[in-house]
Order: sequence, then C-alpha cells, then structure tokens
Amino acid sequence: MRGSSQDRDLLAKLTAQLQALPPDQQRGFLELQWPLRPQFPLCNRFFANAFDIGNEPDTTPEGAVFLYAAQFNHSCIPSAYWVWDCHIERLTVYAIADIPKGEEIFINYTPLDSTPEERTDTLKNVYGFTCSCPVCSSEALSQKREERRVAADRLHTRLEALEFEGGRREKNWIKAPPGSEKDPLPTILGLIEVYEHAGFPTLALATLYGQASSCYFWRGQSHEERKYKAKQHAVTTCCIGREAAERLIKGR
Ligand SMILES: [Zn+2]
Repeated sequence: MRGSSQDRDLLAKLTAQLQALPPDQQRGFLELQWPLRPQFPLCNRFFANAFDIGNEPDTTPEGAVFLYAAQFNHSCIPSAYWVWDCHIERLTVYAIADIPKGEEIFINYTPLDSTPEERTDTLKNVYGFTCSCPVCSSEALSQKREERRVAADRLHTRLEALEFEGGRREKNWIKAPPGSEKDPLPTILGLIEVYEHAGFPTLALATLYGQASSCYFWRGQSHEERKYKAKQHAVTTCCIGREAAERLIKGR
C-alpha cells in the first residue's frame, strides 16, 4: 500500500488498495499497531508503519507499508539500515552491525541529524512511544551523542560554505589548494572523525570518505586516495548492498 499525505483522497485510495490485497495481507495490515488518534484507524495505521519511498528529489513525498519491515522497532543506535530501491521497486534491510542470533534487529525512525527534542517529538507524535534504547536510557551516552551532533552541525555548515559559495555550487570546491583557506580536506576529515564515533555506519559517512578520496586524488596522494575510496565502497555496500552501492558511487 502506498500513498502521500498530499493525496487529496488518501482515505479512498488506501481503502481501495487494502480491499485489493489477498485476505492474509489484509489481516496482516489490520494487525499492525497504530498508537495515535484511534478515530482515524486506516490513515494513522498507514503513517505509523509507512516507510518513505519518495527518494527522488523532485517527486512527491510518498510512503509505503511493507508488512514484514513494519515489524522492526526503533533504536537510536540501529543495527540495520533500510533502503528503498526505486529501480527494482523493493525495500531491503541490511545489517550494519554483527547481530547475534535471536537478538532483536533495530532500525532508526528519525533523521540522524535531528536534535534530541526533534527526535523525542517525532517518536512520540508519529509513532506514539518514548525511546528507551541504550543511548536514551543513559545520560552520559545521550550527552555524547548530542556533543557529536553539535560538532557535526558546525562542521557541516563550514563545508557547505565552501561548496556553495555565495549560494551557488562552486564547481571546483574539492580542488581548492591544500592549506588554503578554502581547503575542504581538514573539515571533511573532522566530520569523518565525528561520524566514525557514532557507533554505526551511515551513507553520510560514506559520502565523506568519497570526498576525502577526491581531495587526495587532486593532491596526487594515491595511497590515501585509494584508502578512502575503499572505505567509501565498504560503508556504502554495508548500508545499501553491493548493486545499489555501485550504482550510487558511479552516479556521483
Ligand atoms: Zn533512543
């Protein structure tokens, strides 16, 4: 079942899609939890369980419910990463950590750069729960996570200023002379260090590895260039699988 909050007749659309499903899948959908606003069971059950599949920048935001993937619970330090591949029309969940047999697999429901308030708010108001993952249960870990988020935010702002000077994308930003004021490499390496301490790999980290590799390429430091390229490949593959990783890296 798929739909968008921008659909004018979302209720009718979801109802028709639900009725068209085989009986066991209809039952599966009706067994999914929807903790909020019981007066709107269909739409809210849909949104509380939907994955964002509108991943093309110029398309309407769209959500879709996948009966099996909807069973994954949230953690702020996830052990799995989900990805919607519009080329094969399939949602795949990849382990991003070693998960012992029998242990619960967690994905993340919130944007990774969200503030603690935004995170709490989304989890409460969309999904109807308060997170009790290891990070949220520990004041020390929560504080560390927040320090990392603030540091990453500051470095991202600096990197964006180099990439988009005066609002326009600077074509050669990655080639700025080493040691100059516009040299992006120190900021990129700073961000890599912050992200590597998050405790789980992300596509954002993979992108930074790719940028570091490009910087080293322009400096003629082929050993470092290859080292970071290999890291980019490894982390991207870990998060979204080999095929999608190759497509993504080549597309850049
Ligand atoms: Zn948490």
